[in-house]
Amino acid sequence: MRGMMREKMMLIDTSICMACRGCQVACKDWHQLPAEDTEFEGTYQNPPDMSDKTLTVVKFTEAEGSRPFKYMEWLFFKDQCRHCKGMHGAPCQKACPVRGAIVAEAGGAIVITDACDSTKCNIDCVDACPYNIPKINGGKAKKCDFCFDRIEGSKSPICAKTCPPGAITFGNAGSVQAAANDRLAKVRAEYPNANIYPNGHGHGGCGGETRVIWLLIDDSSAYGIPSGEHGGMGH
Ligand code: SF4
Ligand code: SF4
Ligand code: SF4
Repeated sequence: MRGMMREKMMLIDTSICMACRGCQVACKDWHQLPAEDTEFEGTYQNPPDMSDKTLTVVKFTEAEGSRPFKYMEWLFFKDQCRHCKGMHGAPCQKACPVRGAIVAEAGGAIVITDACDSTKCNIDCVDACPYNIPKINGGKAKKCDFCFDRIEGSKSPICAKTCPPGAITFGNAGSVQAAANDRLAKVRAEYPNANIYPNGHGHGGCGGETRVIWLLIDDSSAYGIPSGEHGGMGH
């Protein structure tokens, strides 16, 4: 990790997110990534998943919620790399056999570099990731880089800066974790199943240690996202 910068974290509060997808667009803009040609398939989720051209996707799911009176909830989940911690690095980083292909950068960002060459491995990062994040195209794996170049310049990732309702909080790890706990206590009054993901319920991805966390208003299974619980962590 470069420099002495303190560890950073990001909190994505799904109780505030309004699924405008401004974050998706801003991420493409900052990384100079092109639009994708997609077809309407009856959902606002577009494109259907992350790719080498789309590093974050807002996922839309409808589920019967935990509030009284059985409201149907429209659940929004801005998916992206969790920037896992771990004793010897993130799972993708530990699994990668190509020297220098996955490195830790400013604030703890886990970054796939130009050294990545998927012809020299068995797409080990894809297999190791508990959250289905890296996407391979043209011999390279791609994923969210936490906007580490902005972090190096003491700026927030562009998705956090852009989000119109302020659903994304970025900062030093301790203060973001405290903000998450504070919000959870408030949101639980309305949503009894609200939890911090992937750290919720004591199991969490990466032994409960990721640099990107979400406040979910329901269990991760309602959102249709991996819990990370059995994701080959803890080695
Ligand atoms: S979420 Fe997946 S790609 Fe991101 S740091 Fe963790 S293991 Fe690597
Ligand atoms: S942190 Fe940066 S790279 Fe990651 S989703 Fe946000 S804008 Fe995209
Ligand atoms: S910019 Fe904010 S409100 Fe809009 S989709 Fe992204 S996280 Fe949600």
